[in-house]
Amino acid sequence: MSLATGCWTWFAVALLGAVWGSFSYALALRIAGGDFAKSPLGALFSRSRCPSCARSIPAIALIPLAGFALVRGRCAHCGVSISPLYPLAELFHAALLVLVVRQFGPGAYSAAIFIALSAGATISVVDIKTLTIPGALVIAIFLLALYPAIIFGPFVDHLIGAAGMFAFFAMILLAFPGGFGGGDLKFASAIGFFCGWELSIVAVEVALITGAVAGATYALVTRKGLRIRFPFAPFLTLGFGTAVLYGREIILLYKSVVW
Ligand SMILES: [Zn+2]
Repeated sequence: MSLATGCWTWFAVALLGAVWGSFSYALALRIAGGDFAKSPLGALFSRSRCPSCARSIPAIALIPLAGFALVRGRCAHCGVSISPLYPLAELFHAALLVLVVRQFGPGAYSAAIFIALSAGATISVVDIKTLTIPGALVIAIFLLALYPAIIFGPFVDHLIGAAGMFAFFAMILLAFPGGFGGGDLKFASAIGFFCGWELSIVAVEVALITGAVAGATYALVTRKGLRIRFPFAPFLTLGFGTAVLYGREIILLYKSVVW
């Protein structure tokens, strides 16, 4: 493959990721706003509207990565500014799909990883906005996890991952009530089922360390203390992403240091 062809291929991969990112961020806002509960199919497939004047977003603004700049970050009808989180979600997904395909090549496994991590990011946005975990997306991750659990297996390793994550976070929940919610438990077990027990350890460590650092920083900066409900899904998603993308390398590195 020539260099130019290679560049165009990666550009196409990034563009595909961006299109998916635009869809997933719109879905996150619709779930957080309660539209998904009213009509799941409508929330999945309806056209995006301006939150201020409710008119359809013009097609030019929907061009992935460039649309936001082309409409200068404003609604063409009423001029209200559009959140920069839209292009950020597109960029995030573009980079994510490039990372996944670089690591695992094109194919069904990459698709399963990318869609599951994107569902994790969508869950995180909903959790930050509403402190709830959308069950439909957790079920989606369980279903996607059937691919690595059945194709790569052993299936029992993935079952132990799910049960282990559930048991671990249930213990923390019992020891420190109010720290997590029941939604976090289900989300963590879906991650465990996808990862299998070995990679789940990496996911838990990353989630707990980053969550603790962020929680302590937040408590120090706002002086509100640690007794505040905190969205934990973003840290679980970070652990999930680190584990599936780099978990095997991290475990090998760890073993080479310890033994
Ligand atoms: Zn408008």
